[in-house]
Amino acid sequence: MSKPTNLGRTQQFIWDYQERNAKATATLCDSIFYFGELGMQEFETSKLMCDLLEEGGFKVERGIAGFPTGFCAVYGSGHPVIALHTEYDANPDNSQAAGVAEPKAIVEGAPGHCEGHNVNAAVLVASALAAARAIDKFGLKGTIKVFGAPAEEQLVSRPYYVRDGWFDDVDIAFHDHLADEFRAPYGLLQSALISATFTFTGESAHAGVAPWKARDALDAVVLMDMGVAQYREHMLPTMRAHRVITNGGDQPNVVPRKAAIWWYFRDYTAEGARKLFDQAKKIADGAALMTNTSVEVDVMAAVWPTRGNRTLAETVQRNIDLVGAPDWTAEEDALARALQTRAGVKVDGLKRTVVRADGAGGQKTSASDAGDVSWKVPMLKFYYPANIPNISFHHWAAGVALATSIAHKGAVAGAKVMALSVVDFLEHPERVAEAKASFREELNGVEYRSLLPPDQKPPVELNRATMEKFRPAMARHYVTERPCFA
Ligand SMILES: [Zn+2]
Repeated sequence: MSKPTNLGRTQQFIWDYQERNAKATATLCDSIFYFGELGMQEFETSKLMCDLLEEGGFKVERGIAGFPTGFCAVYGSGHPVIALHTEYDANPDNSQAAGVAEPKAIVEGAPGHCEGHNVNAAVLVASALAAARAIDKFGLKGTIKVFGAPAEEQLVSRPYYVRDGWFDDVDIAFHDHLADEFRAPYGLLQSALISATFTFTGESAHAGVAPWKARDALDAVVLMDMGVAQYREHMLPTMRAHRVITNGGDQPNVVPRKAAIWWYFRDYTAEGARKLFDQAKKIADGAALMTNTSVEVDVMAAVWPTRGNRTLAETVQRNIDLVGAPDWTAEEDALARALQTRAGVKVDGLKRTVVRADGAGGQKTSASDAGDVSWKVPMLKFYYPANIPNISFHHWAAGVALATSIAHKGAVAGAKVMALSVVDFLEHPERVAEAKASFREELNGVEYRSLLPPDQKPPVELNRATMEKFRPAMARHYVTERPCFA
């Protein structure tokens, strides 16, 4: 959309910054796309983001809260403290060539972006740098605190950040996420989730010669699975329990000494997810008792339902209305239609309209590790238009747009909205107080307590082996140009 004529001078400054730096934003977006790093292994990605923020004057602390690929970058001083945060991890076996409307891996079997987290990261950096330059230019008071959040796909990092006090001085927070249109929904939006591995230990024996000598850990896994299946009838309709067996033994003639099952437990409330998890632990203890094995439980992630604050949503919506949907070209629309045709979904091209959030988005059974932040401080997870409609995430087709002009234009639009919203609150601190007041109402007396065990440590080994296997082949496709924000 062309520049509106009614912009104030700060708004104009932000608008021009994003237009001037569109190339840098696009290069950052593409760089992270080709890094294609899995959760907890986002080393190249976080390094590039941190370097760019540091060059922009931010004081960067790398490796926060025990996350080697997490960071916190700070600019400015005093209140309001405005947090901006997002994720930058890819998914396994989702390598997909950009701009090609058919399944075509860049590196066969390798990880790849298929949810736009590479674009999210570019929007984050571009917004933060623009807001910092606006602080300089207009002498605005306040602090921008940028958080890089590893391993969103496994719902890992942000509950640790909140538990460990990284959001204690934060007043409000924004989180950007890619979609096919602008949206700023508020209210309760997602579910609570506890992710935990149950590892059973018994004793092995020759399954043909002396099975009576064994204590079978796989039996315990199977019995736990059956126990949870029996319990399903008594679960609330909002609850979900699903699993994979991550260790079922090595070969049939060796009774498995170790076996493991990885569960996700969900509910609309944190308390519900906790209750379901407690019941599963009883079932696991029962399975261990029946099989003369022992069980260890490792909580990998535990998140509260994501909620959106109304005051923040209203501000973001005003800025969405200013920025409007990107002007898509005929070529971009043709790519969208070709992909929709190939993927067998509704063929209607790219979206050119702006929706109005009315808060009635409704709660869903999906989850995000950003949930905990949204109970600690007023937060808004807003969506920006940088993807092809009707394509579901975690599918080859979801990678096609993410390093094309569709993502690049959407990122500039998203960065305008995020930076405009930040400077709105810096220029009008009374709105921060309004956001806090509406947040208190929204919480309605519910007290936030982390679902993470107090001594739980981040799973730093997660995805290491897969990333090491594919990185050398993927590195041949890295973008050599460096983003340059000015
Ligand atoms: Zn995502």
